[in-house]
Amino acid sequence: MSFDAENAYTELRTRFGERVRHDEPLARHGTFGVGGPADIWISVERSEDLVELVTCCAEQRWPLMITGNGTNVLYADAGVRGIVARVAIQGYTLDDHDDGSGFLQVGAGVSWPRIINDLAPRGWGGLEFGPGIPGTLGGGVISNAGVHGHDLGQVLEWVDIVDARACEEQPVAPTVIRYQHAELELSYRHSRFRAQRRVQFDEQGNPIAAPRKLIEPGEIVSQLGIRLHRDDPQTLRAAIDEHKQYRKRTQPPQQSAGSVFKNPDGDFSGRLIEAVGLKGEIRGGAQISERHANFIVNNGGARAADVTTLIREAHTRVFEQFGIDLELELELRGEWKVTTT
Ligand SMILES: Cc1cc2nc3c(=O)[nH]c(=O)nc-3n(C[C@H](O)[C@H](O)[C@H](O)COP(=O)(O)OP(=O)(O)OC[C@H]3O[C@@H](n4cnc5c(N)ncnc54)[C@H](O)[C@@H]3O)c2cc1C
Repeated sequence: MSFDAENAYTELRTRFGERVRHDEPLARHGTFGVGGPADIWISVERSEDLVELVTCCAEQRWPLMITGNGTNVLYADAGVRGIVARVAIQGYTLDDHDDGSGFLQVGAGVSWPRIINDLAPRGWGGLEFGPGIPGTLGGGVISNAGVHGHDLGQVLEWVDIVDARACEEQPVAPTVIRYQHAELELSYRHSRFRAQRRVQFDEQGNPIAAPRKLIEPGEIVSQLGIRLHRDDPQTLRAAIDEHKQYRKRTQPPQQSAGSVFKNPDGDFSGRLIEAVGLKGEIRGGAQISERHANFIVNNGGARAADVTTLIREAHTRVFEQFGIDLELELELRGEWKVTTT
């Protein structure tokens, strides 16, 4: 894809003002703290702006990549060519029903900790299991984020999507469609949106990023409809505090992107990685956490290639020793020609 960043920057600045940046280090926008520059970075705060941006990229044939809070991605050291847009659509409405339930319509850019802090003191339960999930609710739909047997899918009723799939072939405007719960194919860390994104491993064991389209992903979550229930604010506060304490005890304090691999059926990736002797393993500035072996942490100055080297080691050794093909939970984003150190 050829891309004239100067021209795109000038045009987008005219339309979206100071939210557009040039040569923006992605290390600033992901919890790993690694990754090279995006040619152009933009934070999109309204659904209308998202539609306008996608339309503009489709017309101009500019590559666009969507992100949320960057808590489940590993950006390449070479960064991302084209435009990276953070979905930061905020705001929500809450309808109180007589039967003790409530209906939340919320922007995809709202983060879990923020919405929980707003809802719990007002006695609304349903999302209180997620104070330790630092991503956006939109990002949460993609991997059906959750913990300890709870997940977003249990309370999610529908999502609105900016559907840009037709833009791949021709410069048409995207449409907005609503998917009901049954259409989302939600299961453990999975949704219909993840089906084509699974990271594969090559013959040397290196992780290979999923192929990228002009507008990636082609279905962009803009709004969510979530069913809540009335609960006692103190009970909710106690549950939230317990989740937070558990996290503090079990998860590393350094920068990371949460769990690296999904847990295989009936087992735990952390246990398997520890069993093959890789707990604490270091490559460059990255380390398989001493506290939880399914976390890779940035001890300072890690490169994305250090992280993928550890991913390769863990995936290969677990496969050799246990015959289990661990699936990556986090996603690789950007220019991944050289993947390991
Ligand atoms: C310390 C830590 C703890 C964590 N604990 C948990 C946990 O307990 N449970 C859990 O499930 N996860 C956990 N995570 C992972 C992460 O927070 C979740 O996966 C989260 O849902 C990702 O949201 P995000 O906004 O950061 O998405 P990003 O990381 O920005 O993006 C992830 C993927 O979703 C896509 N995407 C993002 N927003 C949209 C959108 N609006 N429309 C379409 N596609 C989109 C991106 O293109 C990308 O492919 C943890 C992460 C960290 C750093």
